[in-house]
Amino acid sequence: MEIIRIPRIAQETCRKYFLRGRSIGFVPTMGALHEGHMSLVRRAKLENDITVVSIFVNPIQFGPSEDLDSYPKNPEEDIRKLREADVDTAFLPDGSLMYPNDFSTYVTADSISDKLCGGLRPGHFRGVTTVVAKLLNITGPTRVYFGQKDFQQTVIVRRMARDLNFGVEVVVCPTVREDDGLAMSSRNLYLDAEQRRAAPVLYRALSAASDLLNSGQKSAQEARMFMEKTLAEEPVVTHVDYASVYDPVTLEEVDEVESEVLLAVAARLGKVRLIDNVIVNLS
Ligand code: AMP
Repeated sequence: MEIIRIPRIAQETCRKYFLRGRSIGFVPTMGALHEGHMSLVRRAKLENDITVVSIFVNPIQFGPSEDLDSYPKNPEEDIRKLREADVDTAFLPDGSLMYPNDFSTYVTADSISDKLCGGLRPGHFRGVTTVVAKLLNITGPTRVYFGQKDFQQTVIVRRMARDLNFGVEVVVCPTVREDDGLAMSSRNLYLDAEQRRAAPVLYRALSAASDLLNSGQKSAQEARMFMEKTLAEEPVVTHVDYASVYDPVTLEEVDEVESEVLLAVAARLGKVRLIDNVIVNLS
């Protein structure tokens, strides 16, 4: 596996793959790799000739009071996992090469970036679309892989890729969970023992609401109340940012549940903010 830290070199390397007619599967990550990330890597390997994985904790998607400085980092272990998975190229760019001092060009997907997490993390998705656009321009992949765990991110990246003609196939992979239902996340490392015990309540709330809708309930309000009630049973959950029912394409809240809806929750356990979601398909 080659390890590249300079964007220009990564671009030249990927261009060579492209010119040799190789398909490229690209997996962007922020490192602290777990089975969720590795499921994307395995899928990329299955579907492409070449697999490229980036590890970059993107500073511009963190707000001033967020966890950029304390974000979990474990580059040696990450590289070991990527080698073991037989990845072709690991791209670990230097921050100063990604964002020179006079960096001033941003990509924004209007309207959908302000909803759900975007409403609570101003500028977050502008940071995400900007770095994903840069990484796609550097690696020029055939397919790019994202996890459903960050559902809003997948909607925004798909929209950006379509609107700006990136010509890349955006592949969304299922959320990988711990045995007790907790969605795997690098941020789970922040949880203390009591918070870790309580954290599966997010998935329990989503599952309870999903069961309710699958049993014929059409009212999104009822589903919302079910989620709120389940989350309230766990005192370790100190704040619910949102727990609601959305159209999976527009990310607008819905009142009446028809064919397909997104159930999504963001909750804080002390200082740790966790998100999770499920799709309910009634058609
Ligand atoms: P991150 O390093 O958190 O930016 O995540 C990198 C990619 O891995 C994103 O596309 C995430 O949606 C995906 N990912 C993170 N956690 C999981 C998970 N539990 N299951 C599937 N994909 C995940």
